[in-house]
Amino acid sequence: MTIDDAPRDALRGGPRELLRWVATGAAVSRADLSRLSGLSPSTVSQRVEALISQGLLEETGAGRSRGGRRPRQLAVPTGGAVVGAIDLGAHHARVGALDLSGRVVQARTLPVRIEDGPEVVLGTLLAEVATLVGGDRAASTGGAAAADGSATGALRGIGIGIPGPVQHATGRIVSPSRMPGWNGFDVAAFCAGRVDVPVIVDNDANLMALGAHRTAHPELDHAVYIKAGTGIGSGVISSGRLHRGAQGSAGDISHCRVVADPAPPCTCGNAGCLEAVASGAALVTALRGQGVPVSDLTGVIRLIDDGDRQATALARQAGRAVGEILAVVVNFFNPQVVAIGGRLADCEPLLASMRATLYERCLPLATQTLLIERVAAGQDVGITGAAHLVIDHVVAAA
Ligand SMILES: [Zn+2]
Repeated sequence: MTIDDAPRDALRGGPRELLRWVATGAAVSRADLSRLSGLSPSTVSQRVEALISQGLLEETGAGRSRGGRRPRQLAVPTGGAVVGAIDLGAHHARVGALDLSGRVVQARTLPVRIEDGPEVVLGTLLAEVATLVGGDRAASTGGAAAADGSATGALRGIGIGIPGPVQHATGRIVSPSRMPGWNGFDVAAFCAGRVDVPVIVDNDANLMALGAHRTAHPELDHAVYIKAGTGIGSGVISSGRLHRGAQGSAGDISHCRVVADPAPPCTCGNAGCLEAVASGAALVTALRGQGVPVSDLTGVIRLIDDGDRQATALARQAGRAVGEILAVVVNFFNPQVVAIGGRLADCEPLLASMRATLYERCLPLATQTLLIERVAAGQDVGITGAAHLVIDHVVAAA
């Protein structure tokens, strides 16, 4: 299947915008939508009817009368687990079933061995999505839906986040750092052979960006989200939309070069890349190199929380490196908010030195009103972003 970028409906009053106004509570009636969009009541009504016929909007009860007949209230149907989402990480995957408003209905975390390869890993996770969606249907229908084996019948689509570069037009993975056996794998085609709903694939940083933006700052047009975990990347929101660039690699800061002496070698073949200095994997490698017996990122974070001198110094260095690259991004792009998420976002020394470097290196005009914060949406931010990818796609197709 084609993974098309949902057609632009940046024009005021496009179906996605109408739906978003209702989902966020900005509009509860056709009259509200007409006022917000500037469209005529008849045009709004036409679009609303189309969205209702697709099951993307519903009418509930009656709103407040301003004289005359009380207007029917519009709402996004909630409660049904109709969107599947997979946020794949290096060691774990978060899998969820969400409703059309992007609310998590069911979710769970599964351990994953990425080196088992795409067929095994994705096969397992797709089955889990079916179970979660089927489980919800079983709960709401007394078990009948799950029993007939058609658990995916209610599904509108599945959004998948991959911890590596994804060519957006094809859904193919291109040269991932830590995913042996996944290079060139066509995730979309593999999934299309197993489920009969649209599957949208993107990288995990983009999903985090979309999830965090829709959850915390839908009103802001320009935002940058850094995902700092085992790897490091970012997602960019420009004019309210996820900005992917020509191929889908926009925001991939992992191989930008930072000042580091000595410059550690990177998986890409260069040296001194941000990922080789500031990612969770880099911190594990650096600490081991200093003779500290640490096996994973959890161990590194524990050492930093305990105030270990070597681990804290490395975290500060990592924060400076992230701040250096981020300063270039902020000067260039002038966002309203920069937010950091991922497991390293809770690492205070890293955050403090990132923030200091950012203020030191940025133009005053760029930082005057810049919000610098943590991504607050928690462990479901990725699957929330994945669900919004699907919802946008479904609405655009409708
Ligand atoms: Zn590199």
